[in-house]
Amino acid sequence: QQLVADSLFAINSFAQKFFADQLWNTEEGQNIALSYLEERGFNKEITEKFQVGYNPQSRYTFSRLATQNQFNPELLLKTGLVANRNEELVDNYRGRIIFPIHNNTGKIIGFGARVIGKAEKAPKYINTPENELYIKSRILYGSYFARQAIDKNDECLLVEGYTDVISLHQAGIENVVASGGTSLTTDQLRLIKKYTNNLTIIYDGDAAGVKAALRGLDMALEEGLNVKLVLIPDKEDPDSYVKKVGAGEFKEFVAANKKDFVLFQLEVMLKEAGNDVNRKNDVVNQVAETLSKINKAEDFTKQQEYIRRCSGILRIDETGLTNLVNKYK
Ligand code: ATP
Ligand code: MN
Ligand code: MN
Ligand code: MN
Repeated sequence: QQLVADSLFAINSFAQKFFADQLWNTEEGQNIALSYLEERGFNKEITEKFQVGYNPQSRYTFSRLATQNQFNPELLLKTGLVANRNEELVDNYRGRIIFPIHNNTGKIIGFGARVIGKAEKAPKYINTPENELYIKSRILYGSYFARQAIDKNDECLLVEGYTDVISLHQAGIENVVASGGTSLTTDQLRLIKKYTNNLTIIYDGDAAGVKAALRGLDMALEEGLNVKLVLIPDKEDPDSYVKKVGAGEFKEFVAANKKDFVLFQLEVMLKEAGNDVNRKNDVVNQVAETLSKINKAEDFTKQQEYIRRCSGILRIDETGLTNLVNKYK
């Protein structure tokens, strides 16, 4: 097991150096990939810091070199960097920008590979398949680069994607990690909780972003995190928005639009329920269930405060809501 892990680390490290070399030192890399990154506004320093690379279009560039260097074909397949086509190893991320994913000691556990330009037929991103190193539910992209800043700010910003993390770093906002576009997991929240109790979720301003954020709420409360939510304006994401308005205005926007997560969920549900009495009743129950996730022994005051505010917004009796919350425990 440890041997496998070590070999996978070795392959990933070898691959990262190869991809970076292709990006910076080949004509294809410069013309296709580096120019794309530059066009998107990523500067040289940030591209280097995050060890971004490029996998050329030819079927065999990486796979041949890796085989020549005596890497075991089965392990190569495990990394997802190559695929088996008619008993032949071929590059899996051909023509893609490569974002290495680091563990907390800076070693590479996997990669995200993005098509250049618009994704028309192919999926926009391909990520490393689950293996001994890459355990998706435990990955927070960028955590290696964010830890000190999270410590200093006593706050962790959570975004959806690789480019959001990198752009915010470039703008000087370094306490940021990405969930990788899927729903948050308990493991990810526990990792964050090791660094700070204060989580600010900054998701894309589309419906998918809101839904994805809300799915994490009950879990986050169970883990005892204080969760705030910021929604980026429609059609933007943190990457595009920080590039549009600049670092200063981005920070101001975040500060001014930080919403308490519980109250935000309530607001969304109430809007959906409208004047329908039955649906309003569902909202009351949902709120009670959510508030029941707060650990009473540790966060009694927090739960009380929420009950007070939510019953006010819902215009229902505070004691009644308290009883309902206790029923869900
Ligand atoms: P870009 O700015 O390069 O378009 P993004 O991060 O804004 O990237 P989104 O479409 O907002 O891309 O997706 C957010 C994150 O979800 C991505 O960074 C990636 O981690 C993950 N993701 C997106 N599309 C896919 C896919 N087809 N397969 C796997 N993961 C994906
Ligand atoms: Mn999105
Ligand atoms: Mn984006
Ligand atoms: Mn996005």
